[in-house]
Amino acid sequence: MDLNPKEKLISEINEKIKICKLCDLYKIRKNAVPGEGNINSKIMLIGLGPGKDEDIQGRPFVGAAGKFLNELLNLVGIKREEVYITNVVKCIPPNNKPNEHQIFICTSNYLDKQIEVIKPRLIITLGEIATKYIFEKNGKKFVNMSIHGKVFEFKNYFVLPMFHPASALYNPSLKEKIINDWLKNKEFIRKFLAKLE
Ligand code: SF4
Repeated sequence: MDLNPKEKLISEINEKIKICKLCDLYKIRKNAVPGEGNINSKIMLIGLGPGKDEDIQGRPFVGAAGKFLNELLNLVGIKREEVYITNVVKCIPPNNKPNEHQIFICTSNYLDKQIEVIKPRLIITLGEIATKYIFEKNGKKFVNMSIHGKVFEFKNYFVLPMFHPASALYNPSLKEKIINDWLKNKEFIRKFLAKLE
């Protein structure tokens, strides 16, 4: 099958990620997880990194947190296939805590390029590490997740910081807050669906 230029670029990035050894996280992974979804979508979701299930399957958000993420997407009337989903780091980080060096190497080689090629108009950051990365990449100061559920307009895209869906698994009291954040932004998020190419 012939790939169009955008598909070709994404597939080249994915192939590089799958065999990447640029930081030491490659030593503990089973599979690198490049990302998946609609590369023509104007909505990109960025999480922290693969967990155990994602590491086994090589796909993002397929474990319990992924199940909750699917529910959140359904809640705002979006199918998972209508957005692009990826992570800050593409290999499973120990204790969900990639270090600064791993984040720098992985984002400068891969996430930045995925954003450049896919050109989202709305980035939904899931959790602190993704939000911090996207804020600082745009020269903005990030303090903490008290900004959850609020929309920010940056030069090339809007950013909507949300709590990471996994945080509801560790802290059930957050679940309602997360659901409210998604519902509150339902119409805003859905506007970007209409912009599918
Ligand atoms: S985390 Fe990123 S930079 Fe590190 S080995 Fe995996 S793909 Fe490469």
